[in-house]
Amino acid sequence: METWQRQLSGSITKVDQLPFIPEDPDYRRKLNKVAEVFPIRINAYFADQIKSANDPLWKQVVPTEEELDDFLSAEEALESDPLKEERDMPVPELVHRYPDRVLLMINNHCPIICRFCTRKRKIGFPGLVTRETLSQGIDYIAKHPEVRDVVMSGGDPLLVPDRELERILTALRDIEHLEIIRLGTRVPGTLPERITPKLCEILKKFHPLYANLHFNHPDEITPEVETACNRLADAGLPLGSQTVLLKGVNDSVEVMKELMHKLLKIRVKPYYIYQADMTMGTDHFRTSVEKGLEIIKGLMGHTSGMGVPYYVIDTPGGGGKVRLLPDTVVRFTDKEVVLTNFEGKTYRYPQPAVKNGKSHPPEDQQDETATQNLCGLA
Ligand SMILES: *Cc1c(COP(=O)(O)O)cnc(C)c1O
Repeated sequence: METWQRQLSGSITKVDQLPFIPEDPDYRRKLNKVAEVFPIRINAYFADQIKSANDPLWKQVVPTEEELDDFLSAEEALESDPLKEERDMPVPELVHRYPDRVLLMINNHCPIICRFCTRKRKIGFPGLVTRETLSQGIDYIAKHPEVRDVVMSGGDPLLVPDRELERILTALRDIEHLEIIRLGTRVPGTLPERITPKLCEILKKFHPLYANLHFNHPDEITPEVETACNRLADAGLPLGSQTVLLKGVNDSVEVMKELMHKLLKIRVKPYYIYQADMTMGTDHFRTSVEKGLEIIKGLMGHTSGMGVPYYVIDTPGGGGKVRLLPDTVVRFTDKEVVLTNFEGKTYRYPQPAVKNGKSHPPEDQQDETATQNLCGLA
């Protein structure tokens, strides 16, 4: 057995094994109720990284009573499937929402079960993804020439055994119109030893293969994780990251900035910060949208543009992801655009005098302050 397989089979799955929880039998009884609805999994590697109750890693994987609160008070329609993924499945376990790309669930287990998971309804319940749903999914892509990009998700695609993964990747690569394949995975950050040289040898045969990794807190980036990411990058996979904005875990500019810096150092390019979804059982993790904008504002211009991800809300009701930006445009007219920069100073950008065949008064172009301000290639 390889190290990662031992770490996985040594997972914490029961309340009585949970680290740093009160002895109180009443408390444990409540947690058992939670675990009946939403399973527990903390693999041995990840459990080792938890240093104390309520630390940022603990909060992501150790259940709390609040997960059942949402059932009692479901006022704002918290749902088991807030993104309406099931509605957009032309075949089981494949979501086709955008014109040219699809999401393909290739299993439904994960190296850890995140308490805030969007797919809380599926994860840790075996039997939903089968060989049959998988082959229907691959078949669907083959029959739909508009699909040029597939995101392999789940569950976690990198928990699929090497040989099976190779079989799936081969079947996908056989589809001529499919240009890129992406892996959406939390394995490199939560079970890093799974990223073996042998796995990388397999992956590198299927380029262009991208991987978007899930990281929420700088403490997740350990020496083992660094090795895993370096192996993937050396195998030629462009690496991106996805982060969920979580109350009490990473809802501050300082924590997010440190995370983004650490990611860039291990060759992972920050891609998305997600506003937490309206998933039943996860309300206690949600922050205000202002908090997300404040974080982006605290990053934009203050640190490398490479380290500033898109902040998105995956819209309840299944409208897909929408990007949000702090207000940078103060005024927008035919003649000029007035912008505010990261220091809060405003700058004018005059529009061309002739636009769409119409001309503007020439003074517009001769505004000296505006011209000076536009030499801003820092
Ligand atoms: C996020 C997502 C994708 C990929 O979206 P990108 O913005 O291209 O990264 C594809 N399908 C579904 C259903 C998604 O939720």
